[in-house]
Amino acid sequence: MANPCNLAPYAAHDSSTRGRIHQEDGPEYRSAFQRDRDRIVHSTAFRRLEYKTQVFVNHEGDLYRTRLTHSIEVAQISRSIARTLRLNEDLTEAIALAHDLGHTPFGHAGQDVLNRRMGPYGGFEHNFQSLRVVEHLEERYALFPGLNLTFESREGILKHCSLTNARTAGEIGERFLNQTQPSLEAQLVNLADQIAYNNHDIDDGLRAGLLTIDQLKEIPLFREQYEIVVQQHPQINRRRTIHEVVRRMINRLVVDLIENSQEALSNASPQNIDDVRNHSTPLISFSAEQIKLNLEMKQFLREKLYRHYRVMRMSAKAERILTKLFQTFMEEPRLLPDEPYRQIMGESPEQREQSCARIVADYIAGMTDRYALSEHQRLFNSPAPTV
Ligand code: MG
Repeated sequence: MANPCNLAPYAAHDSSTRGRIHQEDGPEYRSAFQRDRDRIVHSTAFRRLEYKTQVFVNHEGDLYRTRLTHSIEVAQISRSIARTLRLNEDLTEAIALAHDLGHTPFGHAGQDVLNRRMGPYGGFEHNFQSLRVVEHLEERYALFPGLNLTFESREGILKHCSLTNARTAGEIGERFLNQTQPSLEAQLVNLADQIAYNNHDIDDGLRAGLLTIDQLKEIPLFREQYEIVVQQHPQINRRRTIHEVVRRMINRLVVDLIENSQEALSNASPQNIDDVRNHSTPLISFSAEQIKLNLEMKQFLREKLYRHYRVMRMSAKAERILTKLFQTFMEEPRLLPDEPYRQIMGESPEQREQSCARIVADYIAGMTDRYALSEHQRLFNSPAPTV
């Protein structure tokens, strides 16, 4: 448990949390944010992350990252940075472990399908869906829906949001309308997420044979660390070399983020979390030089990995499966299992259609990759196209 005495004044302090939607007695021996973290770890949506993917479809291989291992890596990176900056580790961990709870099966391909299909019904955003999971969809407690997390955890989970959705998100949506900042803990997890996925996508991309070391050497961020590793350890094999380079890249990014943020914090000298929220820009950030290097890396990955024909094939098949599921449930809602079907409400056909669309989106978004594949098979009685 983070010792409150060690927290910086501008950290999120347990004692001054803006609280939960439904009043509850405080925990006896944990902080409010530890309780949030524990509720997330015990949730159904968290367990499903094990079978949801980022880039590679779940059954492609056992060694690739899943959303679960990704979330754990984000939590690890976030906590080490939080400790150094004297921010609240428990809160960063809660946000990190929950940040991807609303992701659809099959990574971004799934999100694109739901976003398109839900266009006439209010759209679909994965960050907003993560909030929906912790506020409404989890069913675990007698006295309230969702997990009833603190304001600070929910604020961190909703890292981006359209203005339309922000208007429906109550106090959590206000910062998008007022253009204020979230807590430093939330800012930090957002960047730790980028550090984690850029680096593990390189690692997974190399393992899958979709990227080569020669290609990666075009990228200054990789080349710099690669040359150091090869010079210092010319005898080690390829696998160790890659891991050495990746861990050094993560370290370099973490150090840059810490040092640049320390400087920004000392210049702005916020006295408390309200000063952080009212500051014109985020106070946790990479240096300008690092931002440029990160952008190059991102562009490289987009071009060479995310648009690699083998990844595109996986995505295309995933899109077809989810599109078919969505259309089928919308045309015949009685094919939905009883539990979601019973929740369809509305007086008029239009209201029922609207309600049905949201329930179908929630149902599909909650699926793991393998569940979506088997649901496709159950409905159409033919093997799903291999993804
Ligand atoms: Mg993420």
